[in-house]
Amino acid sequence: MVDSSEVMQYILMEEFPGFSINSGTGVYWELRAAVKKENASIIKEINPAIAAISTDELNQLRQKWFWYKEPKPEFQWLYQISPVLLLLCFAIYYFYSQGVRLKALSVKDELTSQLNRRGINKSLRLAYSLFLRANINFSIIIIDIDHFKVINDKHGHLEGDNVLKSLSQLLQHQLRNSDTLGRWGGEEFMIICFNTELNDAVAIAERLRATIEKDMKVDGKSLTASFGIADIESSPGAGIDNLIRVADERLYQAKMSGRNRCIPDLASCEA
Ligand code: GH3
Ligand code: MG
Ligand code: MG
Repeated sequence: MVDSSEVMQYILMEEFPGFSINSGTGVYWELRAAVKKENASIIKEINPAIAAISTDELNQLRQKWFWYKEPKPEFQWLYQISPVLLLLCFAIYYFYSQGVRLKALSVKDELTSQLNRRGINKSLRLAYSLFLRANINFSIIIIDIDHFKVINDKHGHLEGDNVLKSLSQLLQHQLRNSDTLGRWGGEEFMIICFNTELNDAVAIAERLRATIEKDMKVDGKSLTASFGIADIESSPGAGIDNLIRVADERLYQAKMSGRNRCIPDLASCEA
């Protein structure tokens, strides 16, 4: 450490009690004052005041060193580990968001961006647990495009894909917020209508059937689809598998009886 003899003397005596310095070096500080340029006139007043300080007073002033220790900031350890903490937070956020993304992707159909079969099954389980717990009925609608193979054969697989995308958008537009749409497989879609009786689900399906026929054209011809509808309350037998089986059988009936129709139909539901 290099400093003036007064400072060194003070530090040594403070740090090592009993340490004494018997003679000085003969080097003393002059007492000086400094002011800002624009206040230069004041110096004229200060200098005579300094000159008036007696030698004894000056010596006393020299002894008036005091020790100032800059306080260490509290929680300094926190500053030291903050880069590690930051990195840790970033890693947690990264892996968490990746997890959320993967989870979302695992229930999403790549082509239509709707729920895939896995996603629909999840929603079905939720609807079924609400039915068991609170007796809230729900219906499902299975939609199968009529003669879709012909579209693929005539216009190619890519055009077939476009039809699937357009149909899923149209269905999504027509549905209520509380309904869940998903791609059940190939060219089949499923809608879960929460808290919906069979006759209301049939009315929804009939509206969708008519809209598809009116609005969806392939090569100038109307696209049509067949619908199988079932609700959990009135389906014979219990469980989700049974509900799907009933809806599938009704879809098959719709195909067998000429396609472009809903089974059950509105008339039979109103009767
Ligand atoms: P039906 O009226 O009896 O339903 O006749 P269909 O021709 O629609 O018969 P089916 O339902 O058995 O045919 C399904 C076809 O859908 C067969 C398959 O080539 C086609 N398909 C399934 N998935 C896709 C897909 O992701 N993209 C395209 N373009 N076609 C698909
Ligand atoms: Mg099919
Ligand atoms: Mg089909």
